[in-house]
Amino acid sequence: MAEDQQKGMIQVYTGDGKGKTTAALGLAFRAVGHGHKVVMIQFMKGPEQTGELVAAEKLAPLLMIKPMGRSGFIEKDRPDPEDRALALKALDYAKEIMLDHPIDILILDEINVAVSFGLLPVEAVLELINLKPDSMELVLTGRYADPMVLEKADLVTEMKNQKHYFAQGVPDRVGIER
Ligand code: ATP
Ligand code: MG
Repeated sequence: MAEDQQKGMIQVYTGDGKGKTTAALGLAFRAVGHGHKVVMIQFMKGPEQTGELVAAEKLAPLLMIKPMGRSGFIEKDRPDPEDRALALKALDYAKEIMLDHPIDILILDEINVAVSFGLLPVEAVLELINLKPDSMELVLTGRYADPMVLEKADLVTEMKNQKHYFAQGVPDRVGIER
């Protein structure tokens, strides 16, 4: 942490409503304003040019976003070995950051979905959480967060879907969803 050694918390953004990834990005934006260093590792997301990836380049080196999945559909409970390998690689990278390059905030975007789809064993995520340096803030996003992860968290927010234009057939919009 910058000037004051604050204790880092574990935050989870889960649920079926919109706003989990954008909440984490909002947090990152605020922290960068204080000169804090933030890394977002994106599980199950490919390198396509989202607004956050392009914007992060403008905030480098304080903000780094690293998509570590690949484009395409992943079938729940029947994961392709390639997707599993990529998720494990992303988890190893998170571990490396925790042990060798401690930063202020580490965001593991969609990691809850990776666990729920069977790409990562929940035990591996719990082990990673145990490695968190005291001063680092750790944020885990994605639907279907495992109860054991919620148990470890200091803050859990469930985004609840009450209404979403997706149900009316409105597709992903540039600058809003991607
Ligand atoms: P945001 O990234 O806008 O904060 P989120 O992180 O809460 O949203 P996720 O559950 O991670 O949302 O969904 C990721 C993306 O999956 C959405 O931005 C959208 O592109 C797509 N998606 C989610 N639900 C639907 C749906 N019902 N129909 C179509 N696409 C969907
Ligand atoms: Mg998301």
